[in-house]
Amino acid sequence: MWGGRTGALLRVCGLWPAGALGRRPLSCDAASLAGSGSSQCWNCGGPGGPTRGDGFFCPQCRALQPPDPTRDYFSLMDCNRAFRVDTAKLQTRYQQLQRLVHPDFFSQRSQTEKDFSEKHSTLVNDAYKTLLAPLSRGLYLLKLHGVEIPEGTDYKMDRQFLMEIMEINEKLAEAQSEAAMKEIESIVRAKQKEMTDYVSRAFEQDDLEKAKEMLTKMRYFSNVEEKIKLKKISL
Ligand SMILES: [Zn+2]
Repeated sequence: MWGGRTGALLRVCGLWPAGALGRRPLSCDAASLAGSGSSQCWNCGGPGGPTRGDGFFCPQCRALQPPDPTRDYFSLMDCNRAFRVDTAKLQTRYQQLQRLVHPDFFSQRSQTEKDFSEKHSTLVNDAYKTLLAPLSRGLYLLKLHGVEIPEGTDYKMDRQFLMEIMEINEKLAEAQSEAAMKEIESIVRAKQKEMTDYVSRAFEQDDLEKAKEMLTKMRYFSNVEEKIKLKKISL
């Protein structure tokens, strides 16, 4: 495999002492380059690095590069930076990336590449999960616009909305049958769908305040969904 060949080559050049095979070459501090956005390949020193080629492998030596810290989830998952995403396309990209970077494919490679593959794989998982669910996708998109919603703040929630949530919570507390649970579930699901549409429209109109308000509401409903899940287990 090329991994061994590269190691042998570096050893011949005196860059990689025998016995250190599988570790980083001395000419290049992989640890300090990891995550620095360097455009040099940590392995061969060529103009590879995470910002060149496909962003994963050095075009010269094909060594796996560290993740590019400047790349956001939308870019990583090959999606437009927008609230509306094609979830089928997202899933295809996820599978494609895991086939490239999954640690299982690096068991015979150097420790540096093993470490990078772990990092890539975790990042791809996080990106996929974040962009798949409308709430986390919306919150992430807001964050990219510099807007964050701190946990636990009642962001200008109107009284009517808070009453609505309270009512659903009461219904949930009283629910004793599977049918009653199903009814609450379908109410919450319809609400989430409605909120998702509002968020979508708000982002399309660049109305970040509106998106923030709707996402905060979605978070309330998402908390109710968590409670439903817990209660289902105990029923
Ligand atoms: Zn290289």
